[in-house]
Amino acid sequence: MPLHFINGEFTRGGATEDIEVHNPATEGVIDTVPRGTAGDAETAVKSSKDAFEVWKRTSANTRARMMHEAAEKMRAHKEQIVRLLTLEQGKPVPENEEEFEWLMNTFEYYAELGRHERGRVLPSGEYTQLNLVIKEPFGVVLCIVPWNYPLLLMAWKVAPALAAGNVVIIKPSEITPLSTLYLAEHCWDHFPPGVINIVNGYGKEIAEALVKHKDVPVIAFTGSLATGQRIASIAAPMMKKLHLELGGKDAFVIAEDADPEVAARALAYAALTNAGQVCTSTERVYLPAKNSKKFTEALVEHVKSLRLGPGIESDTDIGPMAGSIYREKIEGHVEDAVKRGAKVLTGGRRPERLKKGFYYEPTVISHVDHNMMIMREETFGPAIPLMEYSSFDEAIALTNDSDYGLGACLLTTDALKAKMFMEEVKAGTIWINDPLTDNYAGPFGGMKLSGGARELGQEGLDEFRETKHVHWEFSAAKKSWWYPYGN
Ligand code: NAD
Repeated sequence: MPLHFINGEFTRGGATEDIEVHNPATEGVIDTVPRGTAGDAETAVKSSKDAFEVWKRTSANTRARMMHEAAEKMRAHKEQIVRLLTLEQGKPVPENEEEFEWLMNTFEYYAELGRHERGRVLPSGEYTQLNLVIKEPFGVVLCIVPWNYPLLLMAWKVAPALAAGNVVIIKPSEITPLSTLYLAEHCWDHFPPGVINIVNGYGKEIAEALVKHKDVPVIAFTGSLATGQRIASIAAPMMKKLHLELGGKDAFVIAEDADPEVAARALAYAALTNAGQVCTSTERVYLPAKNSKKFTEALVEHVKSLRLGPGIESDTDIGPMAGSIYREKIEGHVEDAVKRGAKVLTGGRRPERLKKGFYYEPTVISHVDHNMMIMREETFGPAIPLMEYSSFDEAIALTNDSDYGLGACLLTTDALKAKMFMEEVKAGTIWINDPLTDNYAGPFGGMKLSGGARELGQEGLDEFRETKHVHWEFSAAKKSWWYPYGN
């Protein structure tokens, strides 16, 4: 049974109970992890604090070498990591292979960025002075991770935090802790004890104890808006540094000039990858009213051809959802939409063929409007709601009519439309003709209720560094402008 990983050792800590980890494709139990307690949080923080004293003084080159070594070990364990991810998370193997690439490359990318610079020199007021801007680590960074990309979203926090000289406590999702614990055992064993600690358990229990802890100055969280708000309400009065990546309700606008075949494939990929459980999944589609029929028909035909099944099977396009509560949410959104006049064009139910597992058929639904939950709230499931627009200005206004601002997609060959979309849409990432493709050097994050944190790129490193200004006068003589003012 995988345990907590604290101070370089695997331990049950004070747990008196275990949490079962399920395979969403079969609903069977894969393994268990200890249900962490507030006492375990305390032990982890103590170890992290001690480790910080070592890690912050470790040279940037040594830190970089250890991060590269971690990436090398991950590469050697690729097959096992991808398999474990598929079993505990559910998405198809090719998608987990992609997640694995992100994991490894993020460690390599930040290994290099972390040893590149740590501040800048300013022009001083006098020749005898030196003015420095120093970037330094905060200390203990708590990394709270969700279940949809357990390793990628962990790496986007852990790698820059370590590269900047911080130590980390990882709290994986209780739904998908196994792949992270596997890394501790096989790929991170060369780091000094306590530099990476991992605790298991529920958010309200062990994670909140860490959020409240006075010796944890940074909370890096990816997850739902409600949990982000809860964390902010606890941490803000303590003036902690909050790094919040929250939900989304991303729009995809298809311009009139788009090719229906390309649109169908782009939309299906953007909305159905990971069974729609991507924070940047397309959750609202806007089609030109003039020729919406041809786009709709091509999309429905393509979606009907996709195969639902266990992620571990090689011909699976779409895997199960992560759990029953997530499937109930999409069912509620589809039911609400239908009640208000929407039409299900395909899907809209659990598949008859798959009796076990949290499956939901990929769903295309038309005649929706912004009063429906499916167009306002995060659905986080395999649904593609289609709404018509009559002008491109209206499409932009509809895109912006959301409390969230994570990402937005456009398909067009019209450069002016692309420019308008890029300038006018309030979202952290704009994808034109290539939905959901991220870049290591390109900051990823949201606007509005999606949270303002940035991961990846230089910005992703700076999130984990504090800025200090040093004014240094080389002459230690008294200054003419000091007291007394008279004479
Ligand atoms: P969640 O908020 O339920 O849980 C995320 C993590 O927070 C888990 O580890 C959980 O144990 C922990 N947690 C729960 N309650 C807590 C509390 N009171 N205090 C501290 N920690 C607590 O989210 P989820 O269901 O695991 O993930 C899905 C959500 O994540 C979606 O809303 C999705 O949009 C969002 N997400 C956002 C991004 C992004 O980059 N913006 C990326 C992926 C997922």
